[in-house]
Amino acid sequence: MKWLIGGFSHETNTFSSVHTGLPAFRAHTYATGEDAARATRGTGTGMGGFIDAIERRGDAFVPTIAAAATPSGLVTEDAFSDIAGHIVEGARRHRDIDGILLALHGAMVAEGIDDGEGELLARLRAVVGSDLPIVATLDLHSHLTRQMLDCATVLIGYQKYPHTDIYERGVEAAELIARVATGQVHPAWALEKPPLIPPCATCHTEAGLYRDMWEVALRPDRPASIISTSLFAGFPYADVPELGFGVLVYADGDETAAAGEAAALRDMAWGRRSEFVYRPRPVEEAVRQALASARKPVVIPDIADNPGGGGANDSVEILRALIAQGAHSAAVAAIYDPAVVAHGKSAGVGARIAVSLGAKTDALHGEPLAVEGTVRTISDGRYQYKGAMTRGAWANMGASIVLDIDGILVIVCSERLQQRDPEVFRACGIVPEEMDVLVVKSAVHFRAAFAPLDGCIIEADGPGLTSLDLRPFPFARIQRPIFPLDDM
Ligand SMILES: [Zn+2]
Repeated sequence: MKWLIGGFSHETNTFSSVHTGLPAFRAHTYATGEDAARATRGTGTGMGGFIDAIERRGDAFVPTIAAAATPSGLVTEDAFSDIAGHIVEGARRHRDIDGILLALHGAMVAEGIDDGEGELLARLRAVVGSDLPIVATLDLHSHLTRQMLDCATVLIGYQKYPHTDIYERGVEAAELIARVATGQVHPAWALEKPPLIPPCATCHTEAGLYRDMWEVALRPDRPASIISTSLFAGFPYADVPELGFGVLVYADGDETAAAGEAAALRDMAWGRRSEFVYRPRPVEEAVRQALASARKPVVIPDIADNPGGGGANDSVEILRALIAQGAHSAAVAAIYDPAVVAHGKSAGVGARIAVSLGAKTDALHGEPLAVEGTVRTISDGRYQYKGAMTRGAWANMGASIVLDIDGILVIVCSERLQQRDPEVFRACGIVPEEMDVLVVKSAVHFRAAFAPLDGCIIEADGPGLTSLDLRPFPFARIQRPIFPLDDM
């Protein structure tokens, strides 16, 4: 059999003023045709999972594109047309395919398009007709819209947060599509969307409500007809009508089983919704606790400025508190500030420079910080993920320097990127195990690759576009009331 495959992923923070054009995709992931297969084969990505499962079966595939960008504002019309066009054109040219496998996100908003994935799937349906199987993997933070559901045969969400099962869901999708195409299963779906928008960090799957829900969803004695269950958390930083939590269940020719299962999981989430209320910890308090901790290293995630959710990547508020409280063994990954990188590169390793660092993107990520420091290293900012999430794939934070501010080692980078793997420190000549405090621009994903360091985690809530306090965000188009924005 023969499959068309493609990957198009962006998590869009509609409150960000940084629009996402093709250069942002090229800086992260953008490979077409056979290059897309070369870039993803053997990696822990959804496309990597498709390829392994297809090749194990001895089937053929046509790679179209692998494209992803760091979360930020609206995807530009150009970028959307270009990337979606590669996939749609692939379907138009290869009429002998048995189905289409897509690695998507589910929270992409493009200029003029609220539902990027739904639009892509609709364009594909217009080319291939209503019968060809289309199976897509989606991020746990998908909005899951009615249009996506209507246009796809099956949608499969990640089960883990940190997303350590992206590859496994890709394999699952590639195995399922063959069973659908040969008529062995007939997926029937049920969707429940109670009015919930959980802040991201309340949904990690290491403990708490989300872990408990997954235990119920995947229990060994669930109805045998169930093919797939997804518990979508939604992505809170998008002002789109269908934003929110969703339970999606597919059962083999059995709508009743799917509906019963979805309703039970909806009731569980709604009944325990108070666990989605997040209690913030101010930056100064987090830093004080970190410096007093006996267990090292302490990892402080800068939850509110997470470029993995559309943060500007340039808040320096935790660094400001580290300096103010006299830290001398800390490393920060990373502050986005291309001007400071250029200054440091031209000054050279060993030079002492005085700069105004960070907070240049907008007025939502604190104030710049006047600092003096010594340039310790200069690098190209590329490193390979070695943790359980997307292992083997390459990260690119652009040209980078390490600025040593009296023992606080600050990585300054020139591409926005969530820092969720300790390899970022090693790539810049920093030994993370030897530091008392590590600051990362990440909310939850860092937990996977930092676990082997055996330190402790103290979350800090500074200013930023990924704050877990959703109340200040100017939502105008979402359905109200919705919990926890509204009392329900
Ligand atoms: Zn996600």
